[in-house]
Amino acid sequence: EALDAVEKKEKDVNSFVTVMRKEALERAKEVQEKIDNGELTGPLAGVPVAIKDNMCTKGTLTTCSSKILRNFVPTYTAQAVANLEEAGAVIIGKTNMDEFAMGSTTETSAFGPTKNPWNTEHVPGGSSGGSCAAVAAEECSYALGSDTGGSIRQPSSFCGVTGIKPTYGTVSRYGLIAYGSSLDQIGPVAKDVTDCATILEVIASHDTKDSTSVEREDYDFTSALVDDVKGIKIGIPKDYFGEGLDPEVKEAVLAAAKVLEQKGAIVEEFDLSLVEYAIPAYYTIACAEASSNLERFDGVKYGYRAKEYQGLHNMYKKSRSEGFGAEVKRRIMLGSFVLSSGYFDAYYLKALRTKALIKKAFDKAFEKYDIILGPAAPTTAPKLGESLSDPLKMYLGDIYTISVNLAGLPGISLPCGTDSKGLPIGLQLIGDCFAEKKLIRTAYAYE
Ligand code: GLN
Repeated sequence: EALDAVEKKEKDVNSFVTVMRKEALERAKEVQEKIDNGELTGPLAGVPVAIKDNMCTKGTLTTCSSKILRNFVPTYTAQAVANLEEAGAVIIGKTNMDEFAMGSTTETSAFGPTKNPWNTEHVPGGSSGGSCAAVAAEECSYALGSDTGGSIRQPSSFCGVTGIKPTYGTVSRYGLIAYGSSLDQIGPVAKDVTDCATILEVIASHDTKDSTSVEREDYDFTSALVDDVKGIKIGIPKDYFGEGLDPEVKEAVLAAAKVLEQKGAIVEEFDLSLVEYAIPAYYTIACAEASSNLERFDGVKYGYRAKEYQGLHNMYKKSRSEGFGAEVKRRIMLGSFVLSSGYFDAYYLKALRTKALIKKAFDKAFEKYDIILGPAAPTTAPKLGESLSDPLKMYLGDIYTISVNLAGLPGISLPCGTDSKGLPIGLQLIGDCFAEKKLIRTAYAYE
């Protein structure tokens, strides 16, 4: 059914870079046999899933939606994906994304933009736009996305689906092609909170192959699926409801807070200062790390190599110039600049200090509140083409999601209504580090 839906909808939505029809059908048969003889019993056995194309899948193209990796077939599988396979998941394809996960609309993909299934004149958000659109269009039951500055939560909000960005270190980054290593985290995108909790339970694991992987006390998230928020303290940052927030989004998010209040949560406004510094700090750190991470794509070891060149340096230069798109180049240049001698202290170091202050501000908030509630994005999905011409405006759209990555916190985005154009609005809940259970419980109670 999923593959049939893909066949029917892909020409309009373009959620996939690679559809694995043959492999998926074979795999489904194999899994069914294992289910029949009792070898596979978990909730994900036989369920079709789509994987964002920045996660390595052994033997299957993994492009990061970039020309530079258009022929890259990894020899190993990302740990999060391997965990799914072990649970009997059936991978039906790899989803479209902003090139190297840099963007907020899935328009920077080298393989054409993904469209929002709610209205194909609009973007699905990004960078996990393919994963979120595939779930919204019912081309798969769920998908994996990655979130460096909002790339799971913002497209989930634009596509009317639910997505979790877990606490940094919860899901192994082994085999996730790095963008900003200190911020990147893989997470589930699904129809509802129950599915997300079920998937997170499978993909989260301690992994010695990822030095930033954390060994958590337990990996049980589904026990938090209880419809009870009595006594949960919810803080609403006033700073999240100021200038730039669409009034329809504001209204829907505040109405969601009311629902939780009526169910017994204690809801209060507070000042979460430093919000205005999150964007410059994030783009400084993310670009710095990206400029280093993307050094490996030089046309030598793997990936695209220019056809004609004179000598080694010219080969590097031409391969990278031809292989990377405009947004990726912009970020490599910005990142190299803020790391260069003479500017390092003024930009990169300052951004790191800002990051520490943001973490402190959250720590203080979590002394008082269990959950922080706000919008996932300032607006609903813009029209295709609207954001590309103005990168700064696009960066400003990340205002509510990026500080969560800077502080390493878990966050969830779930639908809380639609605007007058009929486009979905996303509610964001943020928890303290390792407080996924509280987050899931609150989201579940709202839903
Ligand atoms: N929009 C943000 C960026 O472009 C976030 C992307 C992400 O989370 N991968 O960096």
